[in-house]
Amino acid sequence: MSAKVPLLRMNKSLKKHGCSRINLSLYAVIYSCILFSANVLAGNDKAERFRASASITTAIDNKTSTAASLVGSASNDVNAEDNPELTSSLVLNGRLTQGALVRGKLSSGSVVWLNGKKITILASGHFVFGFGRDADLTQKLEWQLPGQTIRNQKLLQLAKREYAIQRIEGVASKYVSPAKEVLERIRNDNAQIASARATSSELSAFSQELMSPAKGPISGVYGSQRVFNGEPRRPHFGLDIAGPVGTSIVAPIDGVVTLAHHDMYYSGGTLIVDHGLGVSSTFIHLSSINVKQGDVVTKGQKIAEMGATGRVTGPHLDWRINWFKERLDPALLVNFPDSTQ
Ligand SMILES: [Zn+2]
Repeated sequence: MSAKVPLLRMNKSLKKHGCSRINLSLYAVIYSCILFSANVLAGNDKAERFRASASITTAIDNKTSTAASLVGSASNDVNAEDNPELTSSLVLNGRLTQGALVRGKLSSGSVVWLNGKKITILASGHFVFGFGRDADLTQKLEWQLPGQTIRNQKLLQLAKREYAIQRIEGVASKYVSPAKEVLERIRNDNAQIASARATSSELSAFSQELMSPAKGPISGVYGSQRVFNGEPRRPHFGLDIAGPVGTSIVAPIDGVVTLAHHDMYYSGGTLIVDHGLGVSSTFIHLSSINVKQGDVVTKGQKIAEMGATGRVTGPHLDWRINWFKERLDPALLVNFPDSTQ
């Protein structure tokens, strides 16, 4: 599907310019502007890219930075590695847009709140949060350093995304309008998935760089509004990677298996791996699963094989990333080597 290409190219460009990292000094007035891009998918097969700029507001000095473009220049990009005096300050790594996972780091012993709600921070200072498909465009991050009494605040302005409408014909009618007899089974599947995703372990794997769990062309993207056989259904929350049944699927980062189910109604062979602090990967439509609940898996380890089980029209992997209940876009986290195919 041609729609994938612009987003994936943008990821590379952003990475090259280091724009995804935001640093904020607590002791100096820092204006830090970032540019980030959002993928716009208009219509079924048409995609266009646009750039959105956002400003970062700090509560420290009550001044607001203005938006600025950093394309072709990283001069406004403050980098903690280059500025040792900033290493005790906040570092965020992620795209400020709907569907994004954002990894953060603060001094050990700090406290963090997102929109007034305390979120867990590891002893190492690592923490993480995510924004759903239709998340509010203004998010409030607060933090307090060890030994300090003031709460620092930063308003995160998210880029709004637009999502494609994806019409899929030829879906078996039992999956479009399931019979009453299977509703109990579906409820049970959903309860097991929700329970696995509610896991909040102290693993720090979420802070690793992710690799693609499978090789193959992207055949479905995050956020698309789905219409099955003409009937509107829930949006698609995964990233689909197509390939023959039996294609190897590897762990994108380290984790612990929290669910391994061979036959769920919609998702078929279903595997969930916990990466820590509520971040999980879900792999569905699998033909076989090579691990079991409780297994520790490492990045790159084969965990399953691609299949065509559950509600599918062909073999593919549907990979999802969650931060607890928030469904996030895996494509924002990985550079796909065969993105131009
Ligand atoms: Zn899918």
